[in-house]
Amino acid sequence: MPDQTARKDDSSPVTVADLGSQALISMALHDAFPGDAIVGEEDARLMRADPEGNIAQSVIHHVGAARPGPDAARIMDAIDGCGAKGGPEGRFWTLDPVDGTKGFLRGGQYAVALSLIEDGEVMLGVLGCPNLPVDPHDAEAGLGCLFVAERGAGTWMLPLDGGNEVAIKVKVPKALTRARWVESVEPGHSALETGAAVAKLLGLAAPLQMDSQAKYATVARNQAAIYLRLPTEPAYRERIWDHAAGWLIVREAGGEVTDADGAPFDFGRGRLLERNTGVVATSGGDIHAAVLEAVASVLKG
Ligand code: AMP
Ligand code: MG
Repeated sequence: MPDQTARKDDSSPVTVADLGSQALISMALHDAFPGDAIVGEEDARLMRADPEGNIAQSVIHHVGAARPGPDAARIMDAIDGCGAKGGPEGRFWTLDPVDGTKGFLRGGQYAVALSLIEDGEVMLGVLGCPNLPVDPHDAEAGLGCLFVAERGAGTWMLPLDGGNEVAIKVKVPKALTRARWVESVEPGHSALETGAAVAKLLGLAAPLQMDSQAKYATVARNQAAIYLRLPTEPAYRERIWDHAAGWLIVREAGGEVTDADGAPFDFGRGRLLERNTGVVATSGGDIHAAVLEAVASVLKG
């Protein structure tokens, strides 16, 4: 519905779902952990600028349906309560209430992404992926997966509508040329031509394309062995809420994640990954080094 979507200052879309999801999760985190800071993607500026408009009124309506009680002021405060700065010390949550908003709008993949960071280390990663097939080989199994990773304990997947969790582990493919790989749909988010050049150098077949951190989950559950996200512009810095949950989900499933230069992510630099550019996530083993080498060679030209 067009009146459920607006544009942010950077012209990216924001929907009633982004704002409503952030309000609900912010309130739930506040109930459970009252003192905790939240580094979330959205703010309530649009709603405050036009409180009687469609967007504000729809957010208030839908949040009220899911959680009766809070009035408009409390809902906007809950959204604006996610403006923490992050940093190297202390404990905070990262929240992307709808990661892959463009995928959400076209009926593709999107994720609700939550992580807990303590002293710069990701301790917990959660991805809810409502459109992701429970079993990529069995259409009857339906859509909707929840991924949960706990530092030092592992990664699990369970159907979003209930059922048992299963531990998931990556499997390193025997030959690199048999590795499947995944990238963004959006050419503005990852340099797809550069990715294609890397894939050619490695002898890989055509990629899977999907929006959101569902790409990390796809590597963690062994549906792809490589996720490439290559910088479209050198000055762009990734947002910590776009990566923290997915990072832990791959790592705890046994995989490897670095930036495109092979450096580890530093989640303790504030709201952005100030020290990193791009993403290379793999099932690990020899593959990671081989992919980094190919990326370096292509980027060098
Ligand atoms: P994806 O779904 O993988 O295409 O990534 C979606 C995320 O890309 C959004 O949450 C944005 O924060 C992020 N994004 C926006 N602009 C860029 C950019 N120039 N490079 C990389 N990521 C971006
Ligand atoms: Mg996002």
